[in-house]
Amino acid sequence: MCIFCQIINKELPSTIVYEDEQVIAFNDINPSADVHVLIVPKKHIDSIMELEEADEKLAGHLLTVAHKIAKEKNLKGYKLQFNVGKEGGQIIFHLHLHLLGGKVHGQV
Ligand code: AMP
Ligand code: ZN
Repeated sequence: MCIFCQIINKELPSTIVYEDEQVIAFNDINPSADVHVLIVPKKHIDSIMELEEADEKLAGHLLTVAHKIAKEKNLKGYKLQFNVGKEGGQIIFHLHLHLLGGKVHGQV
């Protein structure tokens, strides 16, 4: 089972900042910004490349959750990033959206 599926199943620890039936969001273990949250669908999808039409609602939900978390954290602006595929810098092959706010420390 992939590392994010293990986090979803609470078999691995994480600092959860948001959770509902469809998604979980937790702090990145190696933050690249003051606020660095990963928003992850509970359904295992490898990457954006494997996204299907049936997942459109779920994909949109990731954005709504990102906005919700950003609002809770009083971010006045932020960056949202998907790394797609090895060539796109993706390391963990379970779809996730990076939410980056505050001072950015490095590249995601
Ligand atoms: P990506 O390059 O888009 O695949 O990003 C994967 C991200 O997952 C990186 O920013 C890592 O720091 C983060 N990460 C890896 N393992 C964990 C973990 N156990 N808990 C939280 N974040 C993690
Ligand atoms: Zn997974």
